[in-house]
Amino acid sequence: MTDFTGFDLAQPILRAIADEGYSTPTPIQQKSIPALLEGHDLLGVAQTGTGKTASFALPLLNRLASNGTRPQSRKPRALILAPTRELAGQINDSIRAYGRHMHLRSTVVYGGASIRPQIKTLAQGVHILVATPGRLIDLMNQRHLYLDDVEIFILDEADRMLDMGFIPDVKKITAALPNKRQTVMFSATMPGTIQGLADGLLRDPIRVEVAPAATTVEKIEQRVLFVRKDNKRALLGELLDDRDISRVLIFTRTKHGADRVSRHLHQNGIQSDAIHGNKTQNARQRALNSFRSGKIRALVATDIAARGIDVDGVTHVINFDLPNEPESYVHRIGRTARAGASGIAISFCDVEERGYLRDIEKIIRQSVPVFEDHSFHAAEIANDTRPAKRPQQRRNSSGPRRRHRGRSGNSTKRAA
Ligand code: AMP
Repeated sequence: MTDFTGFDLAQPILRAIADEGYSTPTPIQQKSIPALLEGHDLLGVAQTGTGKTASFALPLLNRLASNGTRPQSRKPRALILAPTRELAGQINDSIRAYGRHMHLRSTVVYGGASIRPQIKTLAQGVHILVATPGRLIDLMNQRHLYLDDVEIFILDEADRMLDMGFIPDVKKITAALPNKRQTVMFSATMPGTIQGLADGLLRDPIRVEVAPAATTVEKIEQRVLFVRKDNKRALLGELLDDRDISRVLIFTRTKHGADRVSRHLHQNGIQSDAIHGNKTQNARQRALNSFRSGKIRALVATDIAARGIDVDGVTHVINFDLPNEPESYVHRIGRTARAGASGIAISFCDVEERGYLRDIEKIIRQSVPVFEDHSFHAAEIANDTRPAKRPQQRRNSSGPRRRHRGRSGNSTKRAA
């Protein structure tokens, strides 16, 4: 399979793919599209950035187009569940783009936005509904939505649903779906609970898996900068003097931290904005649009808000704070290497974050090279060989620990 015409997809879909400028299917698309076109259920182990949206959206559009009916009021034929508003919005945008030459209607519903227009659109009828779980349940409870006609159900980022406590909601929703349906589930990781959920939802699924985290990470140039906590903002300012850092996503651990960093950048004449869970949907969307269009150079985000953000051309990711879950590191830095591009990821590490760094290095199976050539380099942190205090709230806390990180932080790979 070298291009999309090898798939048995309708002409309007192939035209839309050409409009998007896609020439070669990504590995997940190569594996998923034929299986889904044949009507199989599918379990996809893949993260954002692999092209997974098109891998389920194209077969879905193809199937709905093949037995075209007018949309029924309050009864969609396809349901896609996503954990965050941003991801749900992006999936709907993708569906509209891939379906632009077809007469299929889709909409997105999520919390934090007025429910009235959502009720109205559902009453007028859509073929495809993209939703976050909470708002979907509200609409069902208020009888503005019925799932009896759903033929295709897609559960995206199932592991993130689990992290965000949505599994009971997901179960409530799936209980309302017809038994006769095609089901697709995507998850970046497969913890036991998610495997259990998959066993209950999917019938004889084809399993496809692409690019384990470590492979994605290899395309990204990574560096760690040891710095005292109270010097982090000044260090950020110094780095951003480099105009090559033209579109930068900056991660903080807390919402307040995100606001503080964004304010600091503003005061220093760098256009930036922050997105996190305390911002309204409108404010988040505005910030995202400004970042996408290049109106602002820096977007400061927390992990949840940034999940699934689909912005091309991010030149740098800066971890202002290291995440306490090592998997988040992989998700974060993956924002700068979308669809085959490479990128640079810079992480600040203060004395309390050394344990986080070690856990990250364990899951990416590399040491992150240390960058010493900056004015805030804290040699005492780099050279500190005492065992790090166990930070709290960590997963993956078992297993052997590295006892010493060399000064040079060379990047030799460790055995897998
Ligand atoms: P996703 O993993 O679905 O979030 O997709 C990641 C990015 O890859 C998006 O910006 C898509 O527009 C882009 N993309 C998806 N499929 C392809 C493809 N076959 N060729 C080039 N870009 C793609």
